Amino acid sequence: MKVTRRFEFDAAHRLMGYDGSCSNIHGHHYVAEVTVASLASGLEALDDLGMLIDFKELKSIGDWIDVHWDHALLLNPGDNLDIPTKITRMASGNPIAENMAKVLCDVVEITQLPSGNPTAENMAKILYDVADSIIPPGVVVSNIRLYETPDCFVDFDGR
Ligand SMILES: [Zn+2]
Repeated sequence: MKVTRRFEFDAAHRLMGYDGSCSNIHGHHYVAEVTVASLASGLEALDDLGMLIDFKELKSIGDWIDVHWDHALLLNPGDNLDIPTKITRMASGNPIAENMAKVLCDVVEITQLPSGNPTAENMAKILYDVADSIIPPGVVVSNIRLYETPDCFVDFDGR
């Protein structure tokens, strides 16, 4: 038995080292489908209410997406576009520069991935690990499907 919850979010990104327009900052309306599976087979996996897992128990995965990815600029950790962080470092002790850095940090929410480019593949892997750490006992993450566009998606099942 498997249960899926769908999450939608918007984010900007760019791909470092990409020879083409994806190296420019651009946005996507992403859709993530998180599927969890039972450990037991068939109806034995269901509780007294007839549920494998309450859908609301998957909501915290969406909360994580809202905090870390939704309406953020997702960057490769090696990307030199993390301008607010750079200015914050340089601004130390200079009130005008410190103020400028604060304004930039307020208008650009940047999330650097732990490693690699913010591709749908890398994001699906990250979301797999996040879901794995959040879901309650009794179920396992079966698959993460991440749509970058309505026609293009990645499936990650842990392998
Ligand atoms: Zn893109």
